[in-house]
Amino acid sequence: MKYASFLAALSILVLAQCKKKSTETSDMEEKVVAFDVNDMDSSALPCENFYTYAIGNWQKLNPVPSTESRWMSFNILHEENKKKLQGILDETAKLKDAKTGSFEQLIRDMYLSALDTNGTASKGLAPLAPIQEIIASIRDIQSLNTALGKLGPMGVGGPVAMYVTIDRKNSEAYTVGASQTGLSLPDRDYYLTDDPKMIDIRNAYVEHVNTMFKLSASEVADPGKRILDLETKIAEICWPRQELRIAEKTYNKMLLADWDAGMKNIDARGILKAAGFPEIDSIVVGQPSFYEKMDALLAGVSIEDWKVWLTWKMLNSYAPHINDQFEQEHFAFYSTKLRGVKEMKKRQERILQRIDNTMGEPLGKLFVDKYFPPESKEYVAEMIENLRSAYRESIQNLTWMSPDTKKKALEKLEAFTYKIGYPNKWEDYSKLDIKADAYVQNLININKFGHELMLEKFGKPVDKEEWHMSPQTVNAYYSPVGNEVVFPAGILQPPFFHVSFDDAINYGGIGAVIGHEFTHGFDDQGSKYDGKGNMNNWWTEEDRKQFDSLANVLVEQYSAVEVLPGKFINGRMTLGENIADLGGLTLAYAALQKQLNGKDPGLIDGFTWQQRFFLGWANVWKGNSTEEDINNRLLTDYHSPAEYRVRVPLNNLSQFHEAFGCGKAPENGVKIW
Ligand SMILES: [Zn+2]
Repeated sequence: MKYASFLAALSILVLAQCKKKSTETSDMEEKVVAFDVNDMDSSALPCENFYTYAIGNWQKLNPVPSTESRWMSFNILHEENKKKLQGILDETAKLKDAKTGSFEQLIRDMYLSALDTNGTASKGLAPLAPIQEIIASIRDIQSLNTALGKLGPMGVGGPVAMYVTIDRKNSEAYTVGASQTGLSLPDRDYYLTDDPKMIDIRNAYVEHVNTMFKLSASEVADPGKRILDLETKIAEICWPRQELRIAEKTYNKMLLADWDAGMKNIDARGILKAAGFPEIDSIVVGQPSFYEKMDALLAGVSIEDWKVWLTWKMLNSYAPHINDQFEQEHFAFYSTKLRGVKEMKKRQERILQRIDNTMGEPLGKLFVDKYFPPESKEYVAEMIENLRSAYRESIQNLTWMSPDTKKKALEKLEAFTYKIGYPNKWEDYSKLDIKADAYVQNLININKFGHELMLEKFGKPVDKEEWHMSPQTVNAYYSPVGNEVVFPAGILQPPFFHVSFDDAINYGGIGAVIGHEFTHGFDDQGSKYDGKGNMNNWWTEEDRKQFDSLANVLVEQYSAVEVLPGKFINGRMTLGENIADLGGLTLAYAALQKQLNGKDPGLIDGFTWQQRFFLGWANVWKGNSTEEDINNRLLTDYHSPAEYRVRVPLNNLSQFHEAFGCGKAPENGVKIW
């Protein structure tokens, strides 16, 4: 898929489990409520629990629907939007003469193929035969390596992941990277901890794998246990997530020849060749110790077990798209067991979701053509410049940073670029082969096409116009290698933003989101990149020490939060996001002051602009989650739970304490930016 290989390098606003989409802003005259006071719980005190105070009543009235694992502002936005996307699908389906390779043809035929459930089911596993043949050809380590190279582009990931990516120390050029990979459960902790919940999940996983093999009429003995055993060995050599985010630790550039020579069983050059990569000299290895140990594991596990495992990877990727039995079994484990979702969405919605996930950019083009008004672009551009100017002043006034480092920080700030709405130029999809009667084959083709697009980039200058998210996505990101902030059309909607909202609500919503993304350029990892997007230290040692000690206060604050009995936030893993939330709010508040320029807009619904700013922030993070979802995210999500994205930063802000008359900010309060 198009966006997959770059996502890991980005700081995104929210981790979406299934990709979320957007709504439109075409009805600019329509009256939209900026903040609904009926959402508030007046029995809660703002200074004690601002989250409940601001949106507690909404929480009571909006339990998680049976088809979801959590229910947030993001989902509501998405619901509105789905109607529009569905309309696009229905219209496209009626097109008689769409040019082969045009976005219309691709979307139309992908949609028709997804609707053809009987045709798809009657073919069964037949479209997967080429994949099965490759797996069957494995006889020894050498043929295993070749097979891994051939399977990756077909959407069957092996224990070695290599891809084209932007070189973090030379952001003008692409390089090839290698990262740890291989688990089918969400994180290594699912395999390694003795928590009774995790043991229960592992038992269910074994049963799930057994059932999937049985449904595929396979005669493999004990596949569930064999796969759990193998993946547990992989989990043991995986780095924990908090290590994965450390920029310098995951940048280990070496000559391909040297890396290859150091490994006895993994044939990196052979895998790259089989996957169609051009000749390369060097490679950036993300987790060297993972590959040292994986090299031993490749020979330490029997060839038969590797074949069973690759068959599992194939089934897990494709079987849920083949028929109802597979799909329901997949849902029962991955959605119900792991995320607490009780009920499957309707077929029509599932189809829409899949097309959005697999063909985000073509669908997004048709979407913005119809629904994204150019006025929104101008308004948001102005807010971005207000935020930049607030950041400029903040850096100039910092007491903990030396003049030398400030100069560099300001250079980086001025070099920030931004993208709003949708790409100026769309990717060429004309080589993608999509047919109206070949759903599973289409999915394979999409994987292959994404791989080809990725390979084509290698050797060319970095494409600065490229987007790493589809335009209809309700999300935003900062790319450290691009030094750019990106706001897709999807997030430029209520409750984040509307041209008719009062400034306080817009700045507490999308304004703080813009500030959040800006701050990623200066969070614990983003601050290691310079204005050109190169990993390059521009800090004095003393300034870095000061910054780290301020950041450590945040680590402690978040690590002390007990979300569920005995389950705490990982303050180290979520540090970058927490710095961005605190910084984003500080800057957006200052930018709002600039916007108001001394004028007091007066009370709205009984609240001052200062109060409405914070209500606006709580409003974008209102939500409910299943317990399973919370457990999952505490281990896998780099963001803190929504409630604490509101409560912890506000507790640090004297502006908040003043706005609600809470007295002084607490002594352990911290201000970084
Ligand atoms: Zn973020």
